[in-house]
Amino acid sequence: MTRHFYRPMLARTTPKAFSDVDWVFEIKWDGFRAVAYIDDTFSLKSRNGKELKNNFPELAELTRLAKNLVVDGEIVVMREGKPDFQTLLERGQAVSAREIQRQIQRAPAIYIVFDILEKDGKPLTKLPLIERKKILADTLKEGSHVLLSDYVEEKGETYFQSALDKGLEGIIAKMKDSRYEEGLRSGSWLKIKKLKTCDCVIFGYTQGTQSRAATFGALLLGVYDKEGKPVYVGKVGTGFTQEMLGILTDKFEKLKMDKAPFEPEAGDVITWLEPKVVCEVIYQVVTRDIKLRMARFQRLREDKPPEECTLDQLVEVKKPASEVNDKLAEYKSKRDFKVTIEPKGEERKSDKLIFVIQEHHARRLHYDLRLENNGVLKSWAIPKGMPESSLERRLAVETEDHPVEYANFEGIIPKGQYGAGTVKIFDKGHYQAKYWENDKIEFTLDGQQLKGRYILVKLKKAEAKDWLLLKGKE
Ligand code: MN
Repeated sequence: MTRHFYRPMLARTTPKAFSDVDWVFEIKWDGFRAVAYIDDTFSLKSRNGKELKNNFPELAELTRLAKNLVVDGEIVVMREGKPDFQTLLERGQAVSAREIQRQIQRAPAIYIVFDILEKDGKPLTKLPLIERKKILADTLKEGSHVLLSDYVEEKGETYFQSALDKGLEGIIAKMKDSRYEEGLRSGSWLKIKKLKTCDCVIFGYTQGTQSRAATFGALLLGVYDKEGKPVYVGKVGTGFTQEMLGILTDKFEKLKMDKAPFEPEAGDVITWLEPKVVCEVIYQVVTRDIKLRMARFQRLREDKPPEECTLDQLVEVKKPASEVNDKLAEYKSKRDFKVTIEPKGEERKSDKLIFVIQEHHARRLHYDLRLENNGVLKSWAIPKGMPESSLERRLAVETEDHPVEYANFEGIIPKGQYGAGTVKIFDKGHYQAKYWENDKIEFTLDGQQLKGRYILVKLKKAEAKDWLLLKGKE
């Protein structure tokens, strides 16, 4: 008999948590959806039918916990009590057996099972969810890499709040008597996600049309960066009641001005406003170029001064010193500060971000590029030095975070110490990051020698610490 492959049932989105006796609620895990076929051959299929078992060999534990089942769940890698999607992606991309084995040690996967689709060759998809849950609990044992998804009945609102308190992204509501609807995005499963909000200054508005001709189309939103300069973060054109349209239009009447605080988007007819009105918007995500996506007007914030609407609502803020110290654990463990004169790694506060490039005559000459980020210097060793034109690409090997004071370090690291040899500062100054993501960083150096744009890109399917350093076109 040929095996039937199940396409996972999907959830619709709903904006608000609710409580209802006919529903159960479980955590929404941020991972790879996978259906496991637990039989002699064992298979673990992704949503689009990709075989995942080779990348997650530890999940073959399932074959020791049950026999002849098909179950549905989510593969996650946990970091500090939360699923870490970036690490999971790295696990999914590994190809060599050695790399996969190394990753199992570093970032073991857990398969969280929430549904059972088949038992002893008999499909269970037509049974009500709550019965499938009971059969699942009676049939599948938990292991060190296999967990059954917890759920609560009725009380969705408090469950949602406790999920958010734990830093998780949301919950899934499932109707108790619902069937498993293969391959469908069904209204009997609902995902409820954390809403993100931002307080923004209204810098202007676009002309309205039709029913909005007398008021406005969309509001132009901005926040202030560290230097107090306005930064455009996008438009919001929905979420207004008729009453709010009127209130805002009245307010805008006295604030109109000719000066534009930033470049408008092509095609927009804009009325600029003095930056006096603050509103709260909800949104789904912030894009790379710091624009709010799917923004929706929430309310006016007359209690909040415009200058307090700052960019750090949208980009990562500096972490407290205790976390900085944890980041330097590897740096400190490699060095004996009674022997070496390198900095010990104490706290520091500053406004502008610094960078340094050190020429390091170690066993082999290389250059170390270090960029300040969240209280430490993120570091890369560049064997062949900085690229001089946009045609050159240089390997950059990520090394451990260094303390910020290391940017001033020059001297001789004694023999026998980590990185023994002479360190000289090649260039130093400030830098600005256009964006900083897990696998891509674009930044502009303002040093004595080097000025200009550079891009660091993490290499996929390679050693996890390898990046490419490129120079941007002028
Ligand atoms: Mn070095």
